[in-house]
Amino acid sequence: MTSSTFATDAKTTEKTPVYTSDRTSGSNGPHVSYHYNPQVAQYHYGPHHPMKPFRLMLTDHLVISYKLYEKMDLFTPRRATKDELLEFHSEDYIDFLQTITPELTSKLAEKKLAQFNIGDDCPVFDGMYDYSAMYAGASLDASRKLINGMSDIAINWSGGLHHAKKFEPSGFCYVNDIVLSILNLLRVHPRVMYIDIDLHHGDGVQEAFYTTDRVMTVSFHKYNGEFFPGTGSLDETGIGRGKNYAINIPLKDGIDDDSYIKLFKSIMEPLITKFQPTCIVQQCGADSLGYDRLGCFNLNIRAHGECVKFIKSFGIQMLVLGGGGYTPRNVSRLWCYETSVLNDVTLDHKIPNYLPTYDWFGPDYSLHPQLEGRFDNKNSKKYLESVKQEVMEQLRYLNYAPSVAMKEIPPDLTGLTEEEDQILQELNMESEEGRSIEKIKDEAREGEMEE
Ligand SMILES: [Zn+2]
Repeated sequence: MTSSTFATDAKTTEKTPVYTSDRTSGSNGPHVSYHYNPQVAQYHYGPHHPMKPFRLMLTDHLVISYKLYEKMDLFTPRRATKDELLEFHSEDYIDFLQTITPELTSKLAEKKLAQFNIGDDCPVFDGMYDYSAMYAGASLDASRKLINGMSDIAINWSGGLHHAKKFEPSGFCYVNDIVLSILNLLRVHPRVMYIDIDLHHGDGVQEAFYTTDRVMTVSFHKYNGEFFPGTGSLDETGIGRGKNYAINIPLKDGIDDDSYIKLFKSIMEPLITKFQPTCIVQQCGADSLGYDRLGCFNLNIRAHGECVKFIKSFGIQMLVLGGGGYTPRNVSRLWCYETSVLNDVTLDHKIPNYLPTYDWFGPDYSLHPQLEGRFDNKNSKKYLESVKQEVMEQLRYLNYAPSVAMKEIPPDLTGLTEEEDQILQELNMESEEGRSIEKIKDEAREGEMEE
């Protein structure tokens, strides 16, 4: 008979990884955890929608076939509770998400749907609330493992949905798992840095922390004033106490590996040195790769990964998240590669042929297909240098790394002055004029696999 004394209770089960890494005790590399609920890959936004959650299954298959699970602690996280989602989102909106179904949608007035920004980009689909609670739950789980010291680096490729707003979904994102996990990290971390290398501006995260100096948001993205979400110009720098703590790096079409890496490093190094974050959240949106279905950059997988490697080299706790990415075979290659980078492992170019989804990776079956050259690089050296100079100028106004009396949540997140509220609303208006994340037309779309 087994003694109940040693039975594991629910709490222990939750904190026990389903698989513990085999790292020897002598190893002094970072402790990496991987947070993934396979169910999250089973949802569908709709047959023609570019966001395909099954890219997460492809990613997981690659991670498994390369045996990266041997290096990490694996967790199957629980869903975020409603209360957890309400830490950032409004009750109205979460109630709506929880109750709306595709059947009900047809019966609802257009006005109601418009109020919650339901449309082509953010459709109502079966299980939408569960899907959202699942990817948010994984980011929160990852943040908890960082907070309690179980992990140095925590990965959730199903997260990184940076466009979601307090009151509504935006750009394929329903709840903002990034904001939720940063709020959680702020309970113990004086300063959190958010770095976004998705093709699109990280507007939802920037907006949430626009008035605080405890979170520095840094976003590299395509910007021309039109491109979704329409925000992210150099002069969006934060307001009030948050002045100069929002950094934007607007880029043009076709940026290549060398210029991206050079710019990224030359900006991030001084920012990290000056701000001295105690934790870094990196959003690794894969739509900044070349040949992305919605993309317009020329980056190869190795260059994107170099930006993750560089941040890791500072030895600061990291929460690593996914994000955009609309050519599933390349999204999964990228995130598997970045998982290896975070674990200090070198992977064979050749994708293991026992992978159940091996066919997806033909005809080259390589982890590193050539992805550059589809667009001309419109970013001149002079342009990139001027962007960098402007950011350095902004940095001059940051004289110190703010140290705070620790409170449960940053006091300046909730109470905005009227003027601040006005500025935020104007920023939102600018980005709302009928823009759609899907609007770019490109030739890759025709040939891209639908499912
Ligand atoms: Zn994106």
